[in-house]
Amino acid sequence: MGQLRSIIAGLVASILLSSFVLVEAGDAAAAAREIARPGPKPSPPAKCEAPKFRIVVDVGHTPDSYGALSARNDPEFGFNFRLARLIAAKLKSEGFAATRLLVTDGKARPSLFKRVGAANEGRADLFLSVHHDSVPDKLLETWEFDGANSYFSDRFSGHSLFVSRQNPHFAASLMLARMIGRQLKEQGLHYASQYTLPVMGRYRRQLLDKDVGVYRYDGLVVLSRTRSAAVLLEAGSIINRDEEMEMNSPERQEAVAGAVAGALREFCEKR
Ligand SMILES: [Zn+2]
Repeated sequence: MGQLRSIIAGLVASILLSSFVLVEAGDAAAAAREIARPGPKPSPPAKCEAPKFRIVVDVGHTPDSYGALSARNDPEFGFNFRLARLIAAKLKSEGFAATRLLVTDGKARPSLFKRVGAANEGRADLFLSVHHDSVPDKLLETWEFDGANSYFSDRFSGHSLFVSRQNPHFAASLMLARMIGRQLKEQGLHYASQYTLPVMGRYRRQLLDKDVGVYRYDGLVVLSRTRSAAVLLEAGSIINRDEEMEMNSPERQEAVAGAVAGALREFCEKR
């Protein structure tokens, strides 16, 4: 684990030095100002000109607070980082020159406000948070991987999309989430339908689009407190042993990045 952590920390350090704009020290103060405000103030809906459309591609979690652990004991943060970096690169190459990859450090809860602060201070037009899915602890089963006792659940698989009704641009967020879902479906991928089931407990969500897998998740900080439209993508399940391998494959990563870029082109045309 220590070795994994240092690899990820190294990855992040190298990206911090690259051309992407990231959360810097001043954003903590910005985030604090955000918290003090009663609620997000909507910016006027921006007309979409691709080169000027400010898209923030957010890497879910941080090296310290890495999210879920995969069936083969790899942290979710690494999966999120690799896919979000590919999505951001794809968007830039397709003319969305103002796309930023957002990598955040620190502990889980404060990092959420840092993300929102960075997006709002940067006057983002769109916030897309990239994650990979797991299951509630009670569904975990044990197996041995690489000589270590490990956890998995092969019961569910697929991607899912989340939007918040508390977001000031809920309608636009929902429209984009549907477009991403539609594109993923056209790539032959299926969505994770378990979020409506009682077995999901406190993770149970309202399904807003049963055709392409868009759920409502009001309380999520990065969706409800961003002033721009915001969508969270769970790209696939890394606790499912087969899907974890797929999420590691360049083909699947390209399919997801292509779906997001296709949806953004469509979204931009409709603005
Ligand atoms: Zn996550």
